[in-house]
Order: sequence, then C-alpha cells, then structure tokens
Amino acid sequence: MSDPDGLATEGLTKSFGGVRAVDGATVTFHQGRINALIGPNGSGKTTFFNCVTGMIRPDSGTVTYRGRDLTGRPPHRIARAGIGRSFQLCRVFPRMTVLENMLVAVRRTRLRELLVGARQAEDIAKARGLLVRVGIDHLENVEAGNLSYGQQKLLELAGVLMGDPETIMLDEPAGGVNPALIGRIGTLIRELNAEGRTFLVVEHNMDLVMSLSHHVVVFDRGRPIAEGPPAVVREDPRVLEAYLGV
Ligand code: ADP
Repeated sequence: MSDPDGLATEGLTKSFGGVRAVDGATVTFHQGRINALIGPNGSGKTTFFNCVTGMIRPDSGTVTYRGRDLTGRPPHRIARAGIGRSFQLCRVFPRMTVLENMLVAVRRTRLRELLVGARQAEDIAKARGLLVRVGIDHLENVEAGNLSYGQQKLLELAGVLMGDPETIMLDEPAGGVNPALIGRIGTLIRELNAEGRTFLVVEHNMDLVMSLSHHVVVFDRGRPIAEGPPAVVREDPRVLEAYLGV
C-alpha cells in the first residue's frame, strides 16, 4: 500500500518493445531512512528510477510522494517536489570547472533565476560549502573532466545537494569508485541521513548496501520479490535464487 509520508509506487509498469522492464512494481520507501534497491542486472532498477524521477513515462501505475501524485511529471517537477537524483554514469560537464558545475546544478531547478542572474553570490557561497563538505573544495577551479571518477561522483552528489532535496536517489554511487572514496561516500550518506534526508540507493556493492541501509528492497524481473532489514534480506531464499539461480 502507498505511504502518504514517503515515496511509493503502485503497479508501476514500463515496457520496451516486448520487454517488461518494470512489471507492476508496488513499493514503499521509508521516509527518513536509507533505503536500498538491489537486484540482478536487468531486473529493472534503473528503469524504475527513471520512471520515478520523470526521465521516462511509465505505461501504467502511479508514483506518489508525501501523498502527492507525481506520475508522469517531468524531472523538474519531481525535483521541485523534493526529490533529487544522481545518475549511474555520472553527469558532470567535463569542460566546466567544479564550481561552474555546482552553479549549473542549482539552476537546473531554478530556471527563472538563471534568466535574471539572481542569487549568484549566495549560490557560490553555498556551492563552496558543499564542496568542502564532500571534500573536493581544493579542486574548485579544475575542469570536471580532469577529476577521478570517484571525485566526479562526489561532485555530482554535491550538485544534487545544491537543490536541497529532502529525498536523494543515487544510482550506483560506489560504481567504479576506489575503496577510499567509497568509504567517504558511505560516511556522507550516513551523515546526510542523520540530518533528516531520506535516501534511495541503487547499488551493486553489497558490503556498502548491507552496512549502510536500514531497509532493502530486492527487485527481480521488474518487481520487488523481497524487502526488509539487510540481515533478513540477505538470508531470504528468494533473493539467493534471484542472484545465484539456486
Ligand atoms: P537494471 O538497472 O536492474 O540493470 P534496467 O532497468 O537497466 O535494469 O533494464 C531492465 C530491462 O529493460 C533489461 O532487460 C534491459 O535490457 C531493458 N531496457 C532498459 N532500458 C531499455 C531501453 N531504453 N530500450 C530497450 N530495453 C531497455
């Protein structure tokens, strides 16, 4: 059932040709917690993310957030409702500096202010504060394309934070990132959650998922097959079967 306090889907479905990438997914994510969405490759996690964040329109079903129907709304409307997201393949502008990327990030959700050039000094101060927070402030004038992949992920997360989202959806935050930076990303997620932000994280790194999450939802073939605390989900025979085919 949908939860008026959190992000929920009911019967969400999206097909590509003959493939049902998301197949009637009914899920509720817990507001105020770190939620993980896991599942084998091709189980529909990214398509689900894209339906929720307005990147693609679901064929049927609903997306609600805090009791509001967001089904089929475009990405800027989802962002305005309080949901920010990162991408599996990091989206930064490689020829812009780190600081410029931060300023572009905020204006994606404040188009009118881009036109009138308002609040620039405030935005710069906020951007610098967030770069300190994620630990890449010393790189503010470096072109983003010259950062390591992990640093680009940190920049993308900082960019998401520019919009002050109360819920943050991260698509594979640790994918392709070296272990030291994975630790930092995990710590940041925990700190941000302790400050009241809700997370929904798609991640393949099971050590990170199991140590970080309060609630894990497991997808297989486009829909949830199990959910619960990490220790419970890890032992669930349906999950072992989905992953290992046993
Ligand atoms: P996951 O993120 O769990 O790996 P995806 O959502 O990327 O899963 O993919 C789910 C299924 O949908 C896969 O079979 C994939 O090949 C298919 N799919 C995803 N996106 C597209 C697309 N744009 N066009 C055609 N098929 C797609």
